[in-house]
Amino acid sequence: MNRQQRRAQSRNGQIGEPNLPKPGQAIDTRIVYGAGCTYWGSIYSIKTINMNGWPMPCCPHCHGLLSELPTEADYLNPADEHEAVIPGYGGFVRWNKGRKCLSLHPDQGGDTAFERLRAEYEAERGAGMS
Ligand SMILES: [Zn+2]
Repeated sequence: MNRQQRRAQSRNGQIGEPNLPKPGQAIDTRIVYGAGCTYWGSIYSIKTINMNGWPMPCCPHCHGLLSELPTEADYLNPADEHEAVIPGYGGFVRWNKGRKCLSLHPDQGGDTAFERLRAEYEAERGAGMS
């Protein structure tokens, strides 16, 4: 297993960044998030699938469609602003980076996906504090 494969290896369900640039190459600051799932991570974490001969970027877990933002701050700043409404929300969003996604599709429990993730986050935090 080489360094790149180790980096991509799943740890606690998290995806690494297997597509990092080579030394000397410019760093791409974009982040991606699932259009139909709870995934978010760096542009280097995406997977590419073949769609009728064309490479199609997709979620590394469910292969779903992704949207992108220019920087991580563009994703995290609104989450931090949400802290006033839901205390701890920013920490929860950071914890979720790169984690295995849940579907947001209503037929697959999507209406409670973030609640279930939040419960997992709180359980891990509780376990860590005891
Ligand atoms: Zn996904």
